[in-house]
Amino acid sequence: MRPTPRVRRRAQPLMTDLCAGCRDELNTGDTVYQLAWGRYMRSCITPTYDPWTGPIIEWHTRCAPVNLAPQVQPYFCVVCSELVDDGEEVAYVTVGDKPIPPYKRLERRGYELPLIAHLNCWPAP
Ligand SMILES: [Zn+2]
Ligand SMILES: [Zn+2]
Repeated sequence: MRPTPRVRRRAQPLMTDLCAGCRDELNTGDTVYQLAWGRYMRSCITPTYDPWTGPIIEWHTRCAPVNLAPQVQPYFCVVCSELVDDGEEVAYVTVGDKPIPPYKRLERRGYELPLIAHLNCWPAP
């Protein structure tokens, strides 16, 4: 009998702790990129996180699939180059240290956002 492959299934499909690039584990304290969906609020560097819009996707910084160009506010959509307005729904990437589970938002995120796009401009996940 062949050994059963180790399949990682979670009751909560919203979250994964595997790097989307190399599929290795992401550990607490690792510096990672995190793609999330939410709403941009001018008063905050990091947009809100909306767990219903899409899953969080994470990469080791060395595994990021694209070259990121960090921005400070005001933010411009990387797809259409237009301003991201207060309250708009966005897809965005943060970089920081992976927190202790079950926390998801990265720690020590700094003052720049590596990527932001209008949700309408972002290709469907
Ligand atoms: Zn990786
Ligand atoms: Zn746009």
